[in-house]
Amino acid sequence: MNFDLDEILIERESRESALATRIGGALGDHIPVIEVDDARAAARPRPGDRDPFGAGKRRMLIVRRKSPFLMACPAGSSRFACCGYLVLTIASNCPMDCSYCFLQEYLADNPVFQIFSNYTDALDEVDRMIASAPGRSFRVGTGELADSLAFDSITAMSHDLVEYFSARPNLTLELKTKTDEVDTLLALDPRGRVLVSWSLSPEAVFLSSEHRSAAPAARIAAARRVLEAGYRVAFHFDPIIAYPSAARDYLELIDTLLDSIPAKDISFVSMGGLRMTPTLKSAARRRHPDDAMLCGEDVLAPDGRYRSFAPLRLRLYRQLAAKFRKAGAEIPSYLCMEVPSVHEKVFGATPPRPATIGERLATI
Ligand code: SF4
Repeated sequence: MNFDLDEILIERESRESALATRIGGALGDHIPVIEVDDARAAARPRPGDRDPFGAGKRRMLIVRRKSPFLMACPAGSSRFACCGYLVLTIASNCPMDCSYCFLQEYLADNPVFQIFSNYTDALDEVDRMIASAPGRSFRVGTGELADSLAFDSITAMSHDLVEYFSARPNLTLELKTKTDEVDTLLALDPRGRVLVSWSLSPEAVFLSSEHRSAAPAARIAAARRVLEAGYRVAFHFDPIIAYPSAARDYLELIDTLLDSIPAKDISFVSMGGLRMTPTLKSAARRRHPDDAMLCGEDVLAPDGRYRSFAPLRLRLYRQLAAKFRKAGAEIPSYLCMEVPSVHEKVFGATPPRPATIGERLATI
């Protein structure tokens, strides 16, 4: 495990769970373990913390999830050309600390890093979904409210997930990460049903904004390792930040990626520009005052988020899309949280419906 924790909190109900036992076994007595009666209270910001969100990342709470695990991606909206991604929330928050991360707003009231002891119940929900939609395929991921692999070396949650998804031909599991923590995956057989995806940014963004994440070169090297072990791989260029040398840096990053991973082996690529609600923007600037990447010129877009000026954003999307097109293989690509007209201007075609693109990405 490459991330520090200050303490482990366990609600009474989860004390005997397999997950708590595994985590206890992996950590030994290096980290204080505290039993809590009221998990809801334990998840809230702690009075007296100077940075409650940052402090919450260093407290792991093992707790039963009482809400559904399976949901549509929270970034989705009828106004955007969505990708039909489904999310399994088996953990919430992340030990890394990207300055632009939307969790700073989304989890402001529950910042403690929660990990759900009954996470295998999520698979029952997936069973019910596929039973209700025979013949359809779905892409389901765990990397929306948490990083999919950051703590996998101590939780081993990927074992149950890979075993379940690898046996279902109409499902694809997407494990999304900014780490290079892939050792547990290498011992498993994904049978072509598991995709590992990385968010990739140029070195300048990594150094300025993506604190405690693996360096871009380490992410690409990890992608090469899982590809050789039978996993599919995909890459998210998100958020794309429009800083002065952005075009050059992103295009060089793609060259570096394609030197290690041939275009024909990339299942898909997504792109999304930096977008921040006013609340997120002020939280991010307060927590990361030295990050120059947060100080670019942006405008308040019709969806209520600050974004870089549309022509600048479009130019970057087009340059990246053209670079991949020239790579010699048609890589399926989509935009995240952009309206259909932007998709049309970048790719020259109307975006497919979310269900259609979701199926397509699940089966390639
Ligand atoms: S790795 Fe992802 S979830 Fe974690 S802090 Fe960065 S943006 Fe947020």
